[in-house]
Amino acid sequence: MTMVMMFPDTPLSPVPSPALRLDLDRDALRSNWLALDRMSCKARAGAAVKADGYGLGARQVVPVLQEAGCQDFFVAHWSEVADVLAVAAPVSVSVLHGPLTAADAAYAQATGVKPVINSIEQARRWMEAGGGRCDLMIDTGINRLGVPMSQIGDEALNGLDVDILLSHLVSSEEDTLLNTAQCRRWREACCVIPHDRASLANSGGIALGAAFHGDLTRPGIALYGGVPRQEMAGVLSQVVRPQAAILQVREIVAGDTVGYNGTFMASAPMRVGTIAIGYADGYLRCWSGKGRFLAGEVVLPVLGRVSMDMTTIDLTAAPHLREGDWVTADYALAESAAVTGLSQYELLTLLGRRFGR
Ligand SMILES: *Cc1c(COP(=O)(O)O)cnc(C)c1O
Repeated sequence: MTMVMMFPDTPLSPVPSPALRLDLDRDALRSNWLALDRMSCKARAGAAVKADGYGLGARQVVPVLQEAGCQDFFVAHWSEVADVLAVAAPVSVSVLHGPLTAADAAYAQATGVKPVINSIEQARRWMEAGGGRCDLMIDTGINRLGVPMSQIGDEALNGLDVDILLSHLVSSEEDTLLNTAQCRRWREACCVIPHDRASLANSGGIALGAAFHGDLTRPGIALYGGVPRQEMAGVLSQVVRPQAAILQVREIVAGDTVGYNGTFMASAPMRVGTIAIGYADGYLRCWSGKGRFLAGEVVLPVLGRVSMDMTTIDLTAAPHLREGDWVTADYALAESAAVTGLSQYELLTLLGRRFGR
C-alpha cells in the first residue's frame, strides 16, 4: 500500500507575501505620462501596456495611467486584453497583432476592443467576421508588421471603419533620414485612407517634433522610466525598483568564496547576505559581480554569481541589516543597460512573476 500525503489546509491558508517585490512609484508613472502628453503638443498621448505593462503589471499601471488622463491603450496579444478591461473602462484598447483567426475577430466584437489590421488578409478576415471599428497599421519601412505602402490602394481596405491610422518608426531613438522618410510616407497614407486619428510616434518619436505627432502618440518605455533619447532624460523619472528580503547573513574570512564556481573570493573578513532574487526573477547572470543593491544611501555590491533564486551581497558597510530586512536593486534603466548590455526594454520586461506587485 502506498502512503498518500494530504495537504488539507493548502487551499484555505493565506499565501505568505513573497520575499521579493516591485516598488512601483505611481507618482513617477503619472508624471511621466503627463510629461509625454505635454511633449506631444496638440496630440494626445496614449500608452503601450503590452507585455504586462512592460513587466510592471498591467493591472497596476493601467488604472494609474487612466486616472492621469490616458484614454488609448495598446496591447500586443489578445490574451492581454482581459487584464486591461479588468481594471479600467478605457475609451480605446487596440490589439497590435491584429486578428489572426476568426476567434480573434469574434473576441474583438464581443469585448469592444479594436483589432489593428496589419495586412490585406487581416482586413478580409475582419470584414468577413462582420467588421466594425478597427485601427490600421501601415508599414512605412520597418518591414515587420503592417500593410505595405504598395498595397494601400487595395480594395480590401475600402470597407474598413478606421479609427487610428498608425505606423511605427524604425529608429526613433536616433536621428536618421529614415525618420523623415517614414513620416512622409505615413502622411501620404493619411491622405488616401479615411480615418479619424493618425498616430506615428512611440516614446522616442515624441521628441522628434510636431510633424511626428499626428493626433495620438503611443509611448511605452518612457512611461516606465526608460530614456530613449538624451533630451528626454531630465523630464522622466524612474518608476520601478526591484526589492528583495535578506534570507541569511553570515561572516566569512579571507580566502572564502561565495556562490557557484567560487567566482568571488574574500580578501579580508566580511559580512555577506543572501537575498531572495535570482535570474529566474529576471535578475540575470550578467549582474554577477557587477550589480549593486541599496539600503538607504549604503551601496551593497553583488558578490559572485547570481543564482536562480538567490543573490549574495556585501553587507560589510551595513552592519545594522538583519535577516528579513529589505534591500533595493540599483536599477536606473539607462545606467543598468550600459552595465549589463541588456536593453532598457529587456530590463523591464524580464521582471519575473514571483515579485509581489
Ligand atoms: C511597443 C510599441 C510602442 C511603444 O514603443 P516604445 O518604444 O516603448 O515607446 C508603440 N507602438 C507600437 C506599434 C509598438 O509595438
